This record gives sequence, C-alpha cells and structure tokens, in this order.
Amino acid sequence: MHIKSAEFITSNSDAAKCPKDRLPEYAFIGRSNVGKSSLINMLTSRKSLAKTSGRPGKTQLINHFLINHDWFLVDLPGYGYAKVSKSIKKVFQKFITQYLEQREQLVTAFVLVDIRHKPQPVDQDFMQYLGEKGIPFSIIFTKADKLKPKAIDNHVEDYKNILLETWEEMPNYFITSSSKDIGKEEVLQYIDSLNQS
Ligand code: GDP
Repeated sequence: MHIKSAEFITSNSDAAKCPKDRLPEYAFIGRSNVGKSSLINMLTSRKSLAKTSGRPGKTQLINHFLINHDWFLVDLPGYGYAKVSKSIKKVFQKFITQYLEQREQLVTAFVLVDIRHKPQPVDQDFMQYLGEKGIPFSIIFTKADKLKPKAIDNHVEDYKNILLETWEEMPNYFITSSSKDIGKEEVLQYIDSLNQS
C-alpha cells in the first residue's frame, strides 16, 4: 500500500467522541517505550506524525490519524510496566477498554512487543483479554535490529510456546524495525488485505 496522505484528526479520552466516520480502524497498542510512535512514523513514512520520545507513558489519549482518506490508524496509550500480572482493568484506563470493546469500526488491534524481551505477563494478559472479548489482534515485534536473526527466531519461538498454551494457533505476527525500515510493507499489505475483504 502506498501512503498518499496521513493526517492527524483527533485526540480524546472518550470512546464516544471518536470520529463518526464509518471507516475501518486499526489500533496500535503496547507497553510504553515499545517503539509505537516510531512504528507509526515508519508505516506512514512521516518523521513525526506520532511523537516519539524516550519518556514512557507520554501519549495518554486515543489518537486518530486518517490514512489515504480510507482508514484510520488509531494510536492508543501505552500501558505500564507491571511486573506482577494485574487485572487488565487496573492496567488500562476505562476509556481504552471501552474503545476496544465497543468500537464497531475496529477491524484489528496490533499489539506491539519488544522482540528483545521474554514474554511479559502484562502482554500475555492483554492478549488473553482481547481473545476473551473476541477482539481480533496481531502481534508486531519491534526493534528487530537489536537482535541477530537466530535470537529473533528464539524469541518468537518463546512467544509461540507460551501463547500456544492457551491459543489453538499463533496469532498473525510481524517482525519490524523502525530504525532499519523492516516489516513496513508486510504490515501495510495486511491492512490493505483486510480493507479489501
Ligand atoms: P513509544 O513510547 O512506544 O511510542 O516508543 P518510541 O517510538 O518513542 O520509542 C522508544 C525508544 O525506542 C526511543 O528511544 C526510540 O528511538 C527507540 N526505538 C523505537 N523503535 C526502534 C527500533 O526499531 N530500533 C531501535 N534500535 N530503537 C527503536
């Protein structure tokens, strides 16, 4: 997919105030500092559509970006670094779960995971929650440039082993690096295929 236009439309903390358009939406979410803003900038080929920073927890709103006048890229707030698994309701603000559970336009959520880390309880719980609510999701592994190919395979394998304890199959996943422009076409093609179906 060629990105011809990408524009910021709204920020808000109320799922009911999101754009009224019936266009398909794709949400991006993950732990703070996972590389979400960098990934959004890579996907849209814009240097600072989403703000990047080294400071965790900066984006605390639901941000809608209109892409090609055809679909919305939705940047959701990053969630915390909970070491001990907490209930999803405690990790997320209410408006995020309301958005995920009630937004009819949401086609799929992309859960971003830093490829360097072992599966984290908070990420697993979030995927579990999405599954229980019947919200389709894919995994985007970020920062792949930080690992050698063999280590990438091993980390993906760790994820598969853990997820296959509760899931019948591994969700769709993508390996990306915003610094090295890896995985962009795959993610965009996937969105394109869902938009066509
Ligand atoms: P966010 O908080 O999830 O939006 O994360 P950012 O996009 O702001 O990135 C957090 C930090 O990770 C920044 O210091 C980025 O430069 C760095 N980062 C993001 N993506 C990549 C990547 O693909 N490779 C590497 N090596 N660093 C990255």
